[in-house]
Amino acid sequence: ARQALSRSQKLEAVGKLTGGVAHDFNNILHIISANVQLMLRADGANRKRLLSILDAVDRGSKLAGQLLAFARRQPLHPTSVDIGELLERMDSLVLRAAGDSIRLEKSVPPGLWPTLVDPNQLENVLLNLVINARDAMDGSGRITLALSNVTIDHDSELAPGDYVAVAIADSGHGMPVEVMERAFEPFFTTKPEGKGTGLGLSMAHGFARQSGGDIRLASEPGKGTTVTIYLPRHVVAARPALDAGVAAPY
Ligand code: ADP
Repeated sequence: ARQALSRSQKLEAVGKLTGGVAHDFNNILHIISANVQLMLRADGANRKRLLSILDAVDRGSKLAGQLLAFARRQPLHPTSVDIGELLERMDSLVLRAAGDSIRLEKSVPPGLWPTLVDPNQLENVLLNLVINARDAMDGSGRITLALSNVTIDHDSELAPGDYVAVAIADSGHGMPVEVMERAFEPFFTTKPEGKGTGLGLSMAHGFARQSGGDIRLASEPGKGTTVTIYLPRHVVAARPALDAGVAAPY
C-alpha cells in the first residue's frame, strides 16, 4: 500500500530538490546575465529594457543563493550538552534578542538536562525562536523558556524513551491555522519583505529531527504560541569498575 510521506520526509525531499534546482537555476541566470551585458554594450536603444532584465536576473540569483544556503545546511557536530547550562550561558544573548520591554522568564528545575546535540546550532535555533516570539508581540509581553523531562511511549515521530523538552512560550498574536499548517515550510513567512526569510522554523525542524528529536507548535490566535523542541535525553553510561571480577572480552 502506498503511504503518505511524513512531514520530515517531505522537508528532506524539498531540501534535496532545492539544492539541485538552485544550482542549475543559477547557471542559467549566469548565461542570461552574460548575454544581456554583451547586448547592453552593443545596443544603446534597448538600454532600459536590458537593464530591467539584468535587475530581474539579479533578484533571481539572490533567491538562488538563499536556496543554496538552505540546502547546504551545516553538518551537525553533536557533543554532550547540558541544556540548563547552555541556557544560562545564553542569558545575555537572549535578553538582547528579546529587547527591553519584554518580560523574560526562565524555568529550569534543578537537576541535569543532558543531551547529545550540536551546541552552536542549538543556540542558533533557540535565538531564532526567541526572535520569532519577540516579533509576534508589539513591543511588550512575556517570553518563557522552560525545561522539562518527558517520557514518550507511543508517538508517530519520536522513538520511545526520555526527552528533554525545551519550550519557548510567548504572549504574542499567535498563529491562525493557515499559518500553523505552513510554518515549517522553508521560505514560508508572513513577515514584511526584508524582515523574514521563512527559514527559522524549517531549520529548527531540521535540527530537531537530525538530533533524534522533534519540534511542535501550539498556538492560539490572540493568546500566544508555544514552540517545544524535544531532544533525546543522553545518559552517559557509567564505566564498569575494573575490579568487577568479570573477564574482559579480549
Ligand atoms: P520567519 O521568522 O523568517 O518568518 P520562520 O520559519 O521562523 O520564518 O517562521 C515562519 C512564520 O511562522 C512566521 O513568518 C510567522 O508567521 C509564524 N511564526 C513563527 N513563530 C511565531 C510565533 N512565535 N508567534 C506567531 N507566529 C509565529
